[in-house]
Amino acid sequence: MNRRKFIKNTTYSGTGLFISNQLIPVSEQKPKGDESYDIMKEVKKYRKIDAHAHVYFTDESPGIQIDFADRLHIDKLMISRAMAPHSKGTPEEFKKCNDLVLKSMNQYPDRFIGMPVVNPVYAKESLEEIDRCLDLGMVGIGELYNHIKINDPLYYPIIEKYIDLKMIIHMHSAIGYSRVKLNSREPKNISLPEDFVDIAMRYPEAMFQFAHLGGGIDWEYACKTIQNCPNIYVDVSGSNNESKIIEFALEYLGEDRIFFGCDNSFYQGVGHMLSAKLTDKQRRKIFFDNYNNILKKSGNHVD
Ligand SMILES: [Zn+2]
Repeated sequence: MNRRKFIKNTTYSGTGLFISNQLIPVSEQKPKGDESYDIMKEVKKYRKIDAHAHVYFTDESPGIQIDFADRLHIDKLMISRAMAPHSKGTPEEFKKCNDLVLKSMNQYPDRFIGMPVVNPVYAKESLEEIDRCLDLGMVGIGELYNHIKINDPLYYPIIEKYIDLKMIIHMHSAIGYSRVKLNSREPKNISLPEDFVDIAMRYPEAMFQFAHLGGGIDWEYACKTIQNCPNIYVDVSGSNNESKIIEFALEYLGEDRIFFGCDNSFYQGVGHMLSAKLTDKQRRKIFFDNYNNILKKSGNHVD
């Protein structure tokens, strides 16, 4: 889709951008009351690292992800293929996911940075798989899923390895209003905000990424719970972009612990960031600098 078509097919909402099947006249595309606002100018203004991206087992992926990233000027995407909820998470399964990521990285080496997934129930195989994937250019780990809670002792050897590597551990967070009622898709071993706090306090040198504040979670509770753990970062990805998520995270976590991410909801992810009340400096940090600083610790930063 070229820029002209993107503008025609895109409209601006209170919380973000969404794509419409209808063509919208140019005069109706700007938010009311600000005739000077040029949304594509704003989109282009910021370098971006998508800290939460995936590739899929379809013929169209990863081309679709790159197409979105091109349109929204996303420089780099931290990609993974998470295992399915309720799967056994066998070594065969996680290797298959990681092979897809490796293949995608080879297709778009300048755009994708791959992250491996493992299941620490299979301790030896997981550590071997991490070595295999990192040797082939992956960085970090995750999005880890729900076979084992992040604070289970089975994770300790992996976390200790990542402390030495100076790389971040990206863990899924429970979909649903976690203190009240978990989404029925979530297995019992899902990691809750208090599980992140438990492991972050045990390993203050490790870095954790609490996934998708916009994923349909109790983001207020999450931010309040992890507030005092400086080694837990959040990404603001997801398709549930309630207003004020980013401002709330900013208030509780500060401007250095928040990453931009889409989790495949690309328009929402970028629109969410543009509509948040942030200074220009804060927007630059969240879109790019904060995650690049994490990559810098292991020498894998951009530029
Ligand atoms: Zn997730």
